[in-house]
Amino acid sequence: MERAIIKIHGIVQGVGFRPFIHRLVKDYGLRGFIQNTSSGVTLELEGERAVLERFVGELPRRAPRLALIERVETAYSAQLSHFPDFEIRGSCTEALRKTLISPDAAVCADCRRELFDPRDRRYRYPFINCTNCGPRFTIIRDIPYDRAKTSMQKFPMCPDCEREYHDIENRRYHAQPDCCPVCGPRLRYLDAAGRERAGDAIALAQKTLLGGGVVAVKGLGGMHLACRCDDAAAVRRLRQRKQRDERPFALMCRDLDAARALCELSAAEEAVLDSPQKPIVLLKKREPGLWYLSENGDLGLMLPYTPLHILLMDERFPALVMTSANLSDQPIIKDDADALKKLSGVADGFLLHDREIQTRCDDSLCWVLDGAEYFARRSRGYVPFPLEMARTLPPILACGAEQKASFCLSRGSHVFPSQHIGDLKNMDSYEHYAAQIRHFERLFDVVPALLVHDKHPDYLSTLYAAERGAAEKIPALAVQHHHAHLAACMADNGLDQKLIGLVWDGVGYGEDGTSWGGECLIGDYHGFTRFGSIRPIPLVGGDRAVKELERIAFALLRESGCETGEIPAAEAYEKLLTAKLSCPLSSGMGRLFDGVAAILGLKRRASYEGQGAVLLEAAATEAEGEYSVVLAGAPLRFDWREMIRELVRERDAGIPVGEIAGRFHNTLLRVALALCRAAREQTGLNDVALSGGSFQNMILMRRLPPLLEQAGFRVWKHRRVSCNDEGLSLGQLMIAQAKMEETENDVSGSAFKTD
Ligand code: ZN
Ligand code: ZN
Ligand code: FE
Repeated sequence: MERAIIKIHGIVQGVGFRPFIHRLVKDYGLRGFIQNTSSGVTLELEGERAVLERFVGELPRRAPRLALIERVETAYSAQLSHFPDFEIRGSCTEALRKTLISPDAAVCADCRRELFDPRDRRYRYPFINCTNCGPRFTIIRDIPYDRAKTSMQKFPMCPDCEREYHDIENRRYHAQPDCCPVCGPRLRYLDAAGRERAGDAIALAQKTLLGGGVVAVKGLGGMHLACRCDDAAAVRRLRQRKQRDERPFALMCRDLDAARALCELSAAEEAVLDSPQKPIVLLKKREPGLWYLSENGDLGLMLPYTPLHILLMDERFPALVMTSANLSDQPIIKDDADALKKLSGVADGFLLHDREIQTRCDDSLCWVLDGAEYFARRSRGYVPFPLEMARTLPPILACGAEQKASFCLSRGSHVFPSQHIGDLKNMDSYEHYAAQIRHFERLFDVVPALLVHDKHPDYLSTLYAAERGAAEKIPALAVQHHHAHLAACMADNGLDQKLIGLVWDGVGYGEDGTSWGGECLIGDYHGFTRFGSIRPIPLVGGDRAVKELERIAFALLRESGCETGEIPAAEAYEKLLTAKLSCPLSSGMGRLFDGVAAILGLKRRASYEGQGAVLLEAAATEAEGEYSVVLAGAPLRFDWREMIRELVRERDAGIPVGEIAGRFHNTLLRVALALCRAAREQTGLNDVALSGGSFQNMILMRRLPPLLEQAGFRVWKHRRVSCNDEGLSLGQLMIAQAKMEETENDVSGSAFKTD
């Protein structure tokens, strides 16, 4: 006989882990106890060594659906306690304060079966859930996580639910959001005027949808606007009412078959679509078309993730438009009253319920790259999973950037990235951002000792750090935007060494006060040098050029010595440019994409940021060859003028736009390779990190890594956070940590010292 002390780290609380262990221990005939600890659970078991070892081996393989086992440490001892049986010991409050919180999870197979079983007491109940599925993060108000601290507080359990809750053999043992038609939330349907209608709410909503109407549907982390996707007029109406410019709409498909009918799916893409997280996956359209849904070659599809969605879609709708209900860049609507007010005139009906959404959480959005999620937006289903770092971190709040705002908090070896917040461009999103920071600090029991923010003086996140730092006497550190991107990609991959960072995005405040974004940096958490970039582009009219792409087209053409007569306002732009009036310089890769998209006639005025790049990617066909790659100066800059001249010549010769767009991509791949080679020659570094929003371009992302690997580089891409500005707060945090370390080692400095 021996005693095994098994420490399990990760998300193992509130996910049915203890009952699972209870069953497994019984199967093995072992004795001992299990107890919650600050980082997971500890098990002590006595039995024969061989049996104990088999138990430890089997444990991770049979763990419950929502458990995330990060690490299992096992130690054996000959000292026996002679446990009489197996016991679940209570956890101390201290342990509970430090627990992890599970993200929301899509309805599980068991619950789905009950949903359609006429003999089950939860037959067709839209709020069915169990320890393996259901709402979590979006209903939790405070810790420790129990029903009284969630939106379920106002629904006392009926005796039947109570019995299940206390039965360790039951799937609903300690499932906090558990409920049934007797005791739980109720659905209601309201018409366009906000009058509640009698009858089956689901059937009423379906009727409105079938007639081409728009229905606001309350989901897990916010409201959606739904309408038929096979009715172009209905979709156009929704677009008009939502004033949602030209951005693609996401679709919810009834099942994988319905998704397959619209898009080409690989096995890996199916696995991600149908995972417990159920993100929106960006997939290639089966054939060109459905432009009223998405103007590019992709469609964003997801599967139903709540019982409510499943009931709503049933046989009637293979797919529905399901776009988040928010107006003009405001946060997603989550409250019933707010929906009725703000969506009046937008929705023809409202499918609502009385379980409050405590915390907003938008749908996650990703591609599938090399078999796994490659995030554009890491939110519902993933947040607030922590990222495990290889080191212990002091408590730091990283405030993120401005577009695709996010923040990160550290505690011990964990970093907690926030959910999608949206662009910090109005008071509503700023308030949401500030409130979420406080919410995370409470949930994870963190008091930041340092604030870190972007160098841009005008970002609202910078303002937040400044105000909070002053009010609470917390030191604040500014970090350069692209340095943060580089560090984010390093941290995402658990790296801590100097490397080459290809950081391509639209805009970020540079060290020299100009806007950067086509950067080749060399650095680590401690610092960086700007090894390479692209020739700066004058943004005629400043920020206006971000949307009015022909202003950039003009600048590219003129600088390259090409004819500019095709640009309607060329004369006015010419005046600005010669006077060097309001023509700030930008080395943003996104701007180069925008300008080329306009030169090729794909888009003159963008209705959202990055649209030029999206259309250029969509237009590109597989083409041979590339344009001239001229690199010069220090930093080593890609001089795009020769490329522009060649590209214009081809366009004027009638070469198809798709072919030119293809060659433009080929050229950028060459630029990337040339910059990395030059950087390696100078430094001997062989590792390349790819970060920044331009790497949401799947032509680059599918082709650049193999190209670099062929040349002997090791390539690192984002895996757990997004490559765009949403992922950047992780990098800010790691840079701040390095700074604190330096300061602590330096006896004279104490600016960032913690207790
Ligand atoms: Zn379930
Ligand atoms: Zn009940
Ligand atoms: Fe960026």
